[in-house]
Amino acid sequence: MGEPEGYLPFPKGFSTSAIHHSQEPEQWDSWAVVTPLVTSTTFKQHGPAEFKKYEYGRSGNPTRNVLENVLAKLDNGKYGLTFASGLGATTTLFGLLQSGDNILVGDDVYGGTNRLFNKVGARFGLEITLIDLTDLQNLEKSIKPNTKVVWLETPTNPTLKVIDLKAASEITKKHNIILVVDNTFVTPYLQRPLDFGADLVLYSLTKYMNGHSDVVMGAIITSNKDLYEKLKFLQNAMGVVPAPFDCYQVLRSLKTLAIRMERHHENSLAIAKYLEQHPKVDKVLHPCLPSHPQYELTKRQSSGHSGVFSFYIKGGLEQSRTFLKALKVFTLAESLGGYESLIELPCVMTHASVPPELRDTLGISDTLIRLSVGIEDAEDLIADMEQAFSQIN
Ligand SMILES: *Cc1c(COP(=O)(O)O)cnc(C)c1O
Repeated sequence: MGEPEGYLPFPKGFSTSAIHHSQEPEQWDSWAVVTPLVTSTTFKQHGPAEFKKYEYGRSGNPTRNVLENVLAKLDNGKYGLTFASGLGATTTLFGLLQSGDNILVGDDVYGGTNRLFNKVGARFGLEITLIDLTDLQNLEKSIKPNTKVVWLETPTNPTLKVIDLKAASEITKKHNIILVVDNTFVTPYLQRPLDFGADLVLYSLTKYMNGHSDVVMGAIITSNKDLYEKLKFLQNAMGVVPAPFDCYQVLRSLKTLAIRMERHHENSLAIAKYLEQHPKVDKVLHPCLPSHPQYELTKRQSSGHSGVFSFYIKGGLEQSRTFLKALKVFTLAESLGGYESLIELPCVMTHASVPPELRDTLGISDTLIRLSVGIEDAEDLIADMEQAFSQIN
């Protein structure tokens, strides 16, 4: 595929870095081309507290270290850290804060992030404020003296709102607030928040970065040395570290990230266009459709979009259910970002824990269907949808 026209160009040297950065065979005695999977939890010391590089598996591991270096490089960052899950990375961030601190959070962030902030963070005295960040005047107005972190996702889930990264970071910089961007949905191949001034980029590597639906892991990338050192301390002190085997798997998956993301973009846009002209569809929410309200912004800050998008089917809950049950190639399941196409009904699945009033405000209705388009053949995916639509009266 060629580069999508009018968007930011794909990052130069991305796949070369994914395949070679920090992976020189000469660093291993064996000259192994594939980074060795080191499972040892402890490392020999040549004198008390005198060691080569590693001492204990929670504090550091060679396989994990290579992965962290590659992740930093792919995001144009200086430092990378990995965690047992995406939410584990967020939990670790809490360690940067104190009771009484305020966090401004986008109102339709990932459901688990919302739950972690409101059900756990709030119990430790963190003050959480949910705001609509599409209009950044809301951000400026909501900042209080105790606001320490602004947390956002863009595009959001499941309504695909796009937030202006550059404008958001100009505001947070002015007020000396840490800007965290959860970039899980698009990966560094399509969007690099540090380039726009974000302080920390967070990932659920579970999704596109690993992309094979067989690892749960998280990461934080930064170029800020002070934040890195604090988070590195917390990674070890709080113990939320990933397993070496999982690091090995993600390192392997990153080598195909660029070609997977190009295919996800291509397939999801083909399906979005198909749905947009379908008589049984009310509306399609995809940031790369000219009908999307932030289409121009999307082109300015990204090189395309992944496989995640949503649409409203005509009718009600019954039509949604009939359609979803009739699909054969799409799997009815939560999660996203794998090579296989998934589909779900957020109101009763991924977003069931969001309070009904907030679901209404956000537009998460009985007819909002979310897809995670995989890398199968687009024509087979479209044929599957066509037969499922034909089951609806
Ligand atoms: C899945 C997800 C998370 C949580 O990650 P886990 O690896 O499941 O803990 C956070 N943010 C987004 C956008 C996600 O999709």
